[in-house]
Amino acid sequence: MKNTQDVENIIEILAYRREHTSKGEQYFIDRFLSHTTPILSKTGEVIAYKYSNYKPGAKNNVLWTSHIDTMHHGKPDQISQEVYVDSFNIAFVNSTEDCLGSDDGSGVWIMLEMIKADVHGTYMFFRGEEKGCIGSRAFAEEYADELKTYTHAIAFDRKGKTDVITHQQSSRCCSDKFAKKMSTLLGGSFSPCDSGVYTDTAEFTHLVPECTNIAVGYIDQHTSKETQDLDFLVALKDQIIQHQWEDIELPVERKPEAKQDRYSIWEDDYGYSPYDNFILMSDSQRLTWVTKQSPLVISDLIKDLATELSYAYEDGALYSSSYAPFDLDTKE
Ligand SMILES: [Zn+2]
Repeated sequence: MKNTQDVENIIEILAYRREHTSKGEQYFIDRFLSHTTPILSKTGEVIAYKYSNYKPGAKNNVLWTSHIDTMHHGKPDQISQEVYVDSFNIAFVNSTEDCLGSDDGSGVWIMLEMIKADVHGTYMFFRGEEKGCIGSRAFAEEYADELKTYTHAIAFDRKGKTDVITHQQSSRCCSDKFAKKMSTLLGGSFSPCDSGVYTDTAEFTHLVPECTNIAVGYIDQHTSKETQDLDFLVALKDQIIQHQWEDIELPVERKPEAKQDRYSIWEDDYGYSPYDNFILMSDSQRLTWVTKQSPLVISDLIKDLATELSYAYEDGALYSSSYAPFDLDTKE
């Protein structure tokens, strides 16, 4: 079978438990990212690993991204897990494991293959995405000038097999024109999708015009039921590396915009107060939401809630209203 070597490489990646700051993450980095350059924050923390393959004279300055860490937890000394593949070439782990880690081992693998194939662009493997986009957030804060030089930031970190994400948490991250062009380049059933949640490239929307997230074929991420369609992933890689990306005019339509503080609970234009969302969330939805936020956002939220509560006590009542909850069924 022609895909045997690719499948073996993917399985080798998925066999590492890569929780942020775990031993497994470090072993994985030593094994797979030794040809990349660590990017440090001001405090000396490694926030990402970078590989530059910008081709002079290129028609775009694309930044490709994925994240190293997985939703594994506990068992800090257990570095590896057993990965199985069924007769349909679907990868999975048994129910005692936390997750398969195709979120985002699949994105990491695609980028490693693109580097091997000499595909144009800059590559960033971010740390701590699952812990609130730690790496990409720090990169946006401390390397803003570099980010402004990129025309496109493209993450490989979306469930399913069809989405080129145009909106993350309801905020537009790339133009329809670019998303359509990207869908055509990726082939298959790819098409623009406006219901993305949040991944590293959402941190760059105020600095980079076109930011998106591409489906890599995993489903049920963040659970022991997570699976990855290996044939899809290999086909996607083959499709991507056949293009001469430096010669492609990728549309640049969207203007980078300052991010709004989505989590302030003060009334919006319609008189709704988004904190009602928290009442409607299930325990696991709320937990997932919290793990995706930075300490700053959570600290702001607590302050907002405390302020609101103090007013409510003064008024003698807590007001309530109906408000649709965030859609948290899908998360990158
Ligand atoms: Zn992810």
